[in-house]
Amino acid sequence: MPHTPSSANKVFQPASSTELADSPLQQLHSQLLDDAAVELYVKRDDLIHPQFGGNKWRKLKYNLIHAREKQYDTLLTFGGAWSNHIYATAAAARHFGFNSIGMIRGEEHTPLNTTLSFAKSCGMQLHYVDRARYRQKHQPEYLKKIKQEFGDVYLLPEGGSNELALKGCEEIIHEINDESGQKFDVICCASGTGATLAGLANAITDSQLAIGFSALKGGAFLSHEVIKYLNSSGLGASTDRSKKNWQIEQDFHFGGYAKIDEELLSFMKQFQAQYGFELDAVYTGKMFFGLFHLIESGYFKPGTIIIAIHSGGLQGNKGFNL
Ligand SMILES: *Cc1c(COP(=O)(O)O)cnc(C)c1O
Repeated sequence: MPHTPSSANKVFQPASSTELADSPLQQLHSQLLDDAAVELYVKRDDLIHPQFGGNKWRKLKYNLIHAREKQYDTLLTFGGAWSNHIYATAAAARHFGFNSIGMIRGEEHTPLNTTLSFAKSCGMQLHYVDRARYRQKHQPEYLKKIKQEFGDVYLLPEGGSNELALKGCEEIIHEINDESGQKFDVICCASGTGATLAGLANAITDSQLAIGFSALKGGAFLSHEVIKYLNSSGLGASTDRSKKNWQIEQDFHFGGYAKIDEELLSFMKQFQAQYGFELDAVYTGKMFFGLFHLIESGYFKPGTIIIAIHSGGLQGNKGFNL
């Protein structure tokens, strides 16, 4: 196998337990929230781990458990040059004693950006894939070729979004219910592939609501993805989905994926000054902007208890020099 990674990353003692501490639930206080008479809590998944926290860890967890059970020694996955998933997979692979290979969209640019140089420092082997080829990342033919070239690797899709990812995201709700006992009416997340939203929708009751704030243009496509994930998890088909307990907000993408403007940046700055923690520009900044917009416009009736998930992604801010 020509591409077998060196054993350099094996000097780390691999962690045997995939249990990390629950993330804290933090209540926010402000005039705006008081005026709307809503309670807002933030599930601080960004604090789970400094390098692989956030929803990328939620999505990796059961994949890594499965990969270990099946005795895979190498993870292979896909992502762009600033991908939170590439970053988290590289860090988690090192932490848990896997080799890792990243198939990176586009050409190599040197010096490597902070995301890719971090991934490389974790021992991840980087391979660059042109955009046409990268689009085949879900196609069985291409994945077969990859296995021929790299051996029997554990394949993780882009963003880490698959059936096992949903299971990890469902745990966010179990943690809130079991550990903190906090009641809530609405749970919010930022959405890219829709896997996190699907996991939340699976785990809440029919009288609760999960709202995904789309980080990309074209939320209609996202709805289809969420339905696909719900069906693949086996629950969509058997459960009564006539009462849909999730929705997607499509108006807060700021022009599209990873597009930002002054309004968003100044919101993020003000948010950090007021509440004392940082947001990322690609996902959580847009979610909180959208959520505050809804709260201010009276979208939620008085007494509504809302939880918003801080899904991490702060490493990506370096891509905007933030
Ligand atoms: C990837 C990511 C998301 C999107 O999650 P999906 O499951 O793909 O919808 C949200 N927030 C952050 C910080 C992310 O890195």
